[in-house]
Amino acid sequence: MFEVNEDAQNDEDLADAEQMEESNQVALAIKLNGESSAYECALCADERTSAEGLELFLADTWDLVCDECGRKYAPLLMALMDLGAAAEGYAAVRDTVSPADND
Ligand SMILES: [Zn+2]
Repeated sequence: MFEVNEDAQNDEDLADAEQMEESNQVALAIKLNGESSAYECALCADERTSAEGLELFLADTWDLVCDECGRKYAPLLMALMDLGAAAEGYAAVRDTVSPADND
């Protein structure tokens, strides 16, 4: 006679393992892109133009990856990229405001 609960627990373990495998499928990295250029996303082959500055690459390569694939495979890294962009925007606004303060 087996408890039904045991089956449920096994299913949960299996789901965890599957999730782990999926997140390890593609390793991405944020790197400093030297110059803006046209590229094909290394994952979906979409044609894009990279921006100078922080961009997403396949880990250990200089193969650019588009925003959509970044969000799909590395949402955490994309969140960091968004933070970086927000900080740049803040600096730009601060620079335009500061001359008035010197008056
Ligand atoms: Zn892509």
